[in-house]
Amino acid sequence: MKMQIYSCKVVVVGTGAGGAVAGATLAEAGIDTLLVEQGGAYDTHDHNGVLDGLARMYVNAALTVAIGRPFIPIPIGKAVGGSTIINSSTCFRPPRERVAAWGGPSYEELEPFFADIEESISVTTVDEALLGGNGRILKRGCAALGLEIKPLRHNIRDCKGRGQCQYGCPEGAKQSMEKNFIPRALQAGARMIPNHTVDHLLMDGTKTYGVAGRGPDGRFEIHADVVVLAMGTLQTPVFLLRNEVANTSDLVGRGLHIHPAVRVLAEMDEVVDGFKGLPQGAYIDHWAERGIMLEGIFIPPGLMMASLPGAGHALKDLAAAYSRFSAFGVMVADTTSGRVVPGRFGMPFIVLYQINQHDAETMRFGIARLAEIFFAAGAKRVFTNFLPMMSIESPDAVKAFEAAPVKPSYLEAMAFHPLGTCRMGATPVDAVVDFDLASYDVPNLYVMDGSVIPGSLGVNPQITIMALARRAAQRLAVRVRS
Ligand SMILES: Cc1cc2nc3c(=O)[nH]c(=O)nc-3n(C[C@H](O)[C@H](O)[C@H](O)COP(=O)(O)OP(=O)(O)OC[C@H]3O[C@@H](n4cnc5c(N)ncnc54)[C@H](O)[C@@H]3O)c2cc1C
Repeated sequence: MKMQIYSCKVVVVGTGAGGAVAGATLAEAGIDTLLVEQGGAYDTHDHNGVLDGLARMYVNAALTVAIGRPFIPIPIGKAVGGSTIINSSTCFRPPRERVAAWGGPSYEELEPFFADIEESISVTTVDEALLGGNGRILKRGCAALGLEIKPLRHNIRDCKGRGQCQYGCPEGAKQSMEKNFIPRALQAGARMIPNHTVDHLLMDGTKTYGVAGRGPDGRFEIHADVVVLAMGTLQTPVFLLRNEVANTSDLVGRGLHIHPAVRVLAEMDEVVDGFKGLPQGAYIDHWAERGIMLEGIFIPPGLMMASLPGAGHALKDLAAAYSRFSAFGVMVADTTSGRVVPGRFGMPFIVLYQINQHDAETMRFGIARLAEIFFAAGAKRVFTNFLPMMSIESPDAVKAFEAAPVKPSYLEAMAFHPLGTCRMGATPVDAVVDFDLASYDVPNLYVMDGSVIPGSLGVNPQITIMALARRAAQRLAVRVRS
């Protein structure tokens, strides 16, 4: 079969939070840009619910896991729009102290980029009406304890609260990348080839001249003056490692942070109907300094039942109580650092992450605080997902839960925010890319995705990733034109 050859000035690999913003920024600056994406292009009418969304728009049908004790699922997106098409649409600016710790652009320098991104993707504070029954329970519990619960900011328009953000928004309310930056890139003249997987970096001495891979019609090459990798935190480093480039720092693939998270469920006497409304509508940041963020979450019945203890009649009774369940999440700004390495036996990559004792104890602290909030709201019992006490049966038992010995392997966690495996930094010794997100080793190679963010952020990262990509792409456009 004939090799398909494309040429452009800049090729951007990946169309998620980083790639879409980079592509649009370059194209709007008049740069001949080509976007290549391994996933398909989907529109609102393509979104057909939970299983279909998991199968089509997630890498490995959402079964990507970090190996450690416990194993931690880390689902990531695979579609035009990347993980933004299946994310919960929560928008945070990064905490000032985290930005300061990077030692790069200051918070003040980044502020206009945050504002620009927020306007471009329609970030708005969630309307109270969208918080649903789940929001009502949490609000009542917080009020009883004197805690503040705040509505989150989301990139949404006319949200009807269908509760299916993570499987593709069936209303088209979520303003993910395929709704704004991708059309902007195409409008400005960029080309895009979905369903094409890049597997090689084309090198000529110390410089790259493009990428190669496989599409539906066979192999292709894209020849370009500059290559921007935006394949995400798990896939960009593995691509570099497989191609044996850009790693004199020996940091590629290392320094992985994931924001481990657990969901805590409460059985109430009243009907909650938690599946109605925006699943991640509100948050409690009272313990942010301890590395804890409590954020809304709700999940479909099948997934919820799989996370509840018991079998037979006991589980059947819990299933019958689905409409009386309230749920909320605990997310930890992890001090644990993991690693991603190339996979074997057909696996694209292997994630290694052993959550440490400190983070496990932080998680237990967060679960206990959430249990107190649920009991203050009138919960009958609280399900922790945490051995040795999978359920807390009364407010008094929260103390016993906190006093019980804890091991990391007792957790049943998930993670949605991998970061840090191609970290940016001030020198080639302690970073893979500089603060313009250019490789220290290959002069015309850039990384513009979540992998450049060093360390844990403590908040959902999409706005940070988009802002950093916008700034870097603007600077790249100046460089390419000169
Ligand atoms: C279920 C879920 C919920 C989330 N909720 C939130 C939230 O509410 N708020 C928030 O801020 N963050 C959230 N996140 C995280 C957020 O979506 C990501 O941090 C962000 O999208 C990462 O941007 P990125 O550019 O690094 O990678 P991605 O957005 O993942 O994009 C990477 C793209 O590169 C493509 N790609 C990879 N390899 C190749 C290859 N070899 N060839 C071609 N293309 C390739 C992938 O298919 C993908 O489309 C969530 C994530 C998930 C999975």
